[in-house]
Amino acid sequence: MTRRIGLFGGSFDPVHNAHLALARQALRQLALDELRWVPAGHAWQKAQAPAAAVHRAAMLRLAIAGEPRFVLERCELDRPGPSYTVDTLRELQTATPGAQWFLLIGQDQYAGLHTWHRFDELLRRATLAVALRPGAAGQADARVRAAPVQPIAMPPMAVSATDIRARVAAGAGIADLVPPAVADYIDQHRLYRGETGS
Ligand code: ATP
Repeated sequence: MTRRIGLFGGSFDPVHNAHLALARQALRQLALDELRWVPAGHAWQKAQAPAAAVHRAAMLRLAIAGEPRFVLERCELDRPGPSYTVDTLRELQTATPGAQWFLLIGQDQYAGLHTWHRFDELLRRATLAVALRPGAAGQADARVRAAPVQPIAMPPMAVSATDIRARVAAGAGIADLVPPAVADYIDQHRLYRGETGS
């Protein structure tokens, strides 16, 4: 049987409950054998520098523990230069030939997918799986809409890493937004204390 692999990229700064809800629903709905979480090394479309890669990866490791089909994929962290998803996919497909690949994204990313590096090649290499996201504006480009899409049926969750960082900086609680182990990690390492949460 063809192996079904999901790819879920992001800054994960920090990983939060909406990421986990999306990933769990994708596992079920797409009957994935494996879901690779890919923290971005250098997120070329984000203005603000993320927390150190070592922290983002450690929080991801804590969040995905206990689900054997979740895998932390470090290839973008170990690669110098900008993180282009198409390069990651090509690298992983060479390493694991013959699998069927799904690219998991939120609706906000779907709307801007035509701005991604070599998006046309990306669409040939993987099937899109898109989750609704509250506040996501705009319709995807016609060239993106022409590709097949699997809608991920998760309830809309108004959670963002930006909001979480802002809440921590303001001294507000985040207990219902991230897994307990991630909240503890943020606390222990005093992450996001000095940020304005832009
Ligand atoms: P930030 O607020 O720092 O921009 P974020 O919360 O959007 O971060 P990312 O790590 O950039 O988190 O997101 C990784 C992926 O998860 C993206 O495809 C994004 O669309 C998706 N995603 C994040 N939050 C949600 C959400 N609440 N609902 C649906 N998809 C989401």
